[in-house]
Amino acid sequence: MPTPNPPLSGLALVLSGLSFGDTSSLAVPTRFAESAFIDASEVVDCTLENGTQTRCHQITVGYLPEGLTIGPFCPATLDDVGGIWEWTGDHHGLYRVDRDFLVMLDGLGFRFFDEDGTVHIADIATAPPDDDHACINVSPDESVEITMLLPVEPVMAETPTPLNTVAKVGVALDGVPVFSDAPQIQQTGHMPALDVCGGHIDPGGWYHWHSTSTDIETVFDQEEVVADCVVAQDPAAQFGYAFDGFAIFGSREAEGSQPQGLDACNGHVGITAEGPEAIYHYHATETFPNLPQCLVGVSARNNFSTTATAGVGATRAGQDGRGEPPRPGREGPRGMPPGFEEAAAELGVSAEALMQAMDAAGGPNADLDVVAEALGVSVEELRTALPPRR
Ligand SMILES: [Zn+2]
Ligand SMILES: [Zn+2]
Repeated sequence: MPTPNPPLSGLALVLSGLSFGDTSSLAVPTRFAESAFIDASEVVDCTLENGTQTRCHQITVGYLPEGLTIGPFCPATLDDVGGIWEWTGDHHGLYRVDRDFLVMLDGLGFRFFDEDGTVHIADIATAPPDDDHACINVSPDESVEITMLLPVEPVMAETPTPLNTVAKVGVALDGVPVFSDAPQIQQTGHMPALDVCGGHIDPGGWYHWHSTSTDIETVFDQEEVVADCVVAQDPAAQFGYAFDGFAIFGSREAEGSQPQGLDACNGHVGITAEGPEAIYHYHATETFPNLPQCLVGVSARNNFSTTATAGVGATRAGQDGRGEPPRPGREGPRGMPPGFEEAAAELGVSAEALMQAMDAAGGPNADLDVVAEALGVSVEELRTALPPRR
């Protein structure tokens, strides 16, 4: 094939895009870090939440990107310093999880430590918390694989989809999944502490962000939190993609200016570093969690599945042939029992939110009052909706 002349090179790119199928106009996978995927990404048939049949990028990532340092989460004692937590009660704000914060919570009726200053820490991967109030620190499961779907061509929804507690937001360019707010202490009694970049380990054993980690120090400056995130900070850089396929940037435009004309989801149509065309994109906010509050586009159905036996996305394990049999020692208290999806649908919450609320409140033997409060439903409704306890 002859080398194309300069005027033809654009066409050649278009043609190669068509012929290879996975080089769409958005070329999503090419913007991810090379190390983000554990399998080559592919373009597959998918169905969007509104029933649209289309094509999606299917990407598979591991429990944690190689080389990413995570933590600290829970401080071992009052003399240690953990990660961060957004407290939404009296004296609300973003705090470093340290002596001052834990003593403040104690004063508000949430005691996370013993007389000798030992902090209550629970690894809900192995057992439910013993204490009324425990800092949740889940041990990672290095074997977990996560498969996600992103529409190749984003489709606008008729109305934006709000992102409630632990709703699926998207995926960072390093391959780390992104979720909205973690469950609150007031809901579950426990604190699934975030590290200094705004991430932690899901009950399924894999790491995820609850923030735009590449721009979290903007939030630290705003909220006067002393913490250094190990992830490179760049408020103008692209952080990742939302599950509707639109890009998420930091709180600034490419040239450093404040974004103008943002909608309720903190997005707008404008020029980005991606190219000369104005495209819809989201920006990080300057307050925690610095993520879009809603998605304007339509996500793919079943867009998040893991090989884990617990946690968000675990229901899909085994259903599509990707799941491995449950591993001894990790099944049990945290597995999503059959009937959970239906129960969640009946309650009008996501299965993930239901699972997370149950996990945080102690797994299958969770205090239903706590779970009901976390989900904003009555205990009666919850009891009726849940599959019978075994
Ligand atoms: Zn989380
Ligand atoms: Zn912008």
